[in-house]
Amino acid sequence: MLSKEKFKRIIWKLEREIRVEQWYINYDSFELLVSTILSQATNSRNVVKAFKSLKDKFKVNPSTLAKASVEQISECIRPAGLHNVKAMKIKALSEKIMEDHDGSLDRILELPLDEAREKLMDLPGVGSKTADVMLCFAKAQPVIPIDTHIERISKRLKIVGEKAGYMDIKRKLEQLTPKSKRKYVHLLLIQFGRRYCRARNPKCRGCPIQEHCEWELKKFYLKSK
Ligand code: SF4
Repeated sequence: MLSKEKFKRIIWKLEREIRVEQWYINYDSFELLVSTILSQATNSRNVVKAFKSLKDKFKVNPSTLAKASVEQISECIRPAGLHNVKAMKIKALSEKIMEDHDGSLDRILELPLDEAREKLMDLPGVGSKTADVMLCFAKAQPVIPIDTHIERISKRLKIVGEKAGYMDIKRKLEQLTPKSKRKYVHLLLIQFGRRYCRARNPKCRGCPIQEHCEWELKKFYLKSK
């Protein structure tokens, strides 16, 4: 498995090549939660479109969205895909926040890290990744949310084994990354996954960390392009 020293060199090389984008930096905690649900299985361009369309029609807060119908929400967020399922989740979690948390996520986010994570995961439609995104971006907690890009990169670079699950990857990356850099590393790896280490047709030729990659199929992509 990869050493701390080698991981540090990889990050050092990536930060020289890749500019980190923070597309949801100005959202309040509920808006962030909604946009994270919208982001499931789609790209950030579609999320921005769907979120804007939702915001044009409704105030994006639990009280308003708890009263809206699933159909109304679904129509607004159509650009994000899976819009009926996502609309059901958004309505259900808005109702739950109104009923059990006085209409606000503040008290949950004030709890100690593990407790806050557990409470967030009690909300409808909120899994490990969404809870970690909330902790990382709404509360600046030192956690690394794991998305599909980060999972793929971690496995190709042999940071974790092929069968590693969400928590294995998260624990390993957090072990390798100082607390102060975890949010940055999360964003950096996502950008790297989008630009170079894509699921299909990765750009191995020209990849800034090619020398550190032991992925078996790398040779094929180096020859074929
Ligand atoms: S060499 Fe290819 S597979 Fe390896 S990290 Fe770079 S882009 Fe990903």
